[in-house]
Amino acid sequence: MTALKLFRHSPKRKLLSLTFRVQRIVSAVSLCAALTQASPAQQSEHPTADLLSELIRLDTSNPPGNEGKIAEFLAERLRPLGFDIHIVTTPETGKAHFIARLKGDGSKRPVLLAAHADVVGVEREKWTVDPFAGVVREGYIYGRGAIDFKGGLAVFTRAVIRLARERLPLHRDVILLSEADEESGRYNTTWLADSHWDLIDCEFALNEGGWIIKDDRGGVQYVSISTADKRSVPVIVTATGSSTHSSMPTPDNPILTLAKALTRLADIETPLELTSSTREFLSTLARTSSPPLSDNLNTLLNGKDPKLIQRADQEISQNPLLHALTRNTIAPVMLKAGFRGNVIPGSAEATINLRLIPGTDLDALISSIRRVIDDDRVNVSLALPNTPEGARAAALLKQTANLQPSPKNTSLYRALEQSAHSIWPERPVTTYLFQAGTDAIAWRSRGVPVYGVYPYPISAEDLRRMHGNDERVSIQSLEQGTELIYKTLIQLESE
Ligand SMILES: [Zn+2]
Repeated sequence: MTALKLFRHSPKRKLLSLTFRVQRIVSAVSLCAALTQASPAQQSEHPTADLLSELIRLDTSNPPGNEGKIAEFLAERLRPLGFDIHIVTTPETGKAHFIARLKGDGSKRPVLLAAHADVVGVEREKWTVDPFAGVVREGYIYGRGAIDFKGGLAVFTRAVIRLARERLPLHRDVILLSEADEESGRYNTTWLADSHWDLIDCEFALNEGGWIIKDDRGGVQYVSISTADKRSVPVIVTATGSSTHSSMPTPDNPILTLAKALTRLADIETPLELTSSTREFLSTLARTSSPPLSDNLNTLLNGKDPKLIQRADQEISQNPLLHALTRNTIAPVMLKAGFRGNVIPGSAEATINLRLIPGTDLDALISSIRRVIDDDRVNVSLALPNTPEGARAAALLKQTANLQPSPKNTSLYRALEQSAHSIWPERPVTTYLFQAGTDAIAWRSRGVPVYGVYPYPISAEDLRRMHGNDERVSIQSLEQGTELIYKTLIQLESE
């Protein structure tokens, strides 16, 4: 089914639809003419996969990122197609955001497609291929960022290129953003929004987030679109004691005090908290999976007996993702103590990463952590530096504490849902609370809806490679994802 058939048929829409159809035929004819003269590279069977390979070859491991390389690369390709290009440089050499705008007639506000260009580093010796070569193997593109999120950048870019080549008259500007500093660093989208909001202001946006999960037979099980992210909050737990010679240890060794505090933290069971999007997601999962998971999910969602619900929760929580979706999590991530083999240090500290369900009262959670540790030699505080940047981060935490999920009743959500149904008929589309954080906060904190999706069907096995070794995405999935995003943009025009 084409996107055009999805239009609702009011007389005005019929006319628009017809106009569109004629324009598309004309565009398709001119495109065919152009293609007959195109070079072999332009006639590639898998243009999104080819683009992803090229993006992977530009190493943007962050730090340092060097996202400016991607900006230059994309500018060269998009400028000739009629995009307005802005490269926003940052105070850090080589680090830049890239913005390409395809102009509409301005009768509707812009739609933005945001993808981060930086990637996390690699443990090179654990890869079976060069992580920065864009290797093609058995129908997959391998490389750092294949899933997170150069694959998404390639899909978004190819979708807007297709739109530009077809020269359809647009109501709204379509903005492609390739971002710096999503994985780490300070010149991220929060910085960009503070300094260049006019370039990225929009009615709504697409970003990374939900998943198009493959079932065991390789078909699509469900499409999840994230409408909110969990919040990541760093906390420092510091134990203090007497610094002295290690030949005469005292009972207040801060390393031992810290170890006891962390042991108590390990025993904290945070309570089950189901947001409306998590409920929708879990009931979709129940409908598309088999027992015992489907039974446990149904008990969790609809059960009346607290004991049975608790047992179902324990079973479901064996899966780390489902565990993370249904509660706040508390994870020690770094330890720092001691500096010599013969000195008991005066303090020891652990960094704890909290991941919070939207709406969580952070102060109350920190107080409950203090109560559980119950030791006045241990201090628990937010791990934010005493600098203007730290103060800004604290203010943002407060400001976003009660951030509402992006609503479902927007034309972008509907367009995404309808396009997904046209590509994978009968497969459910659900909202989703993203278990990690993304840079969507720059828009959501300003009231702009953001919908997150990794736009390629992916298996649970491949998902585990994200931020890990031999990260990969299938070529077929990339081309399907490009179709999804292209159709979404076309559908959006008809709304
Ligand atoms: Zn990412």
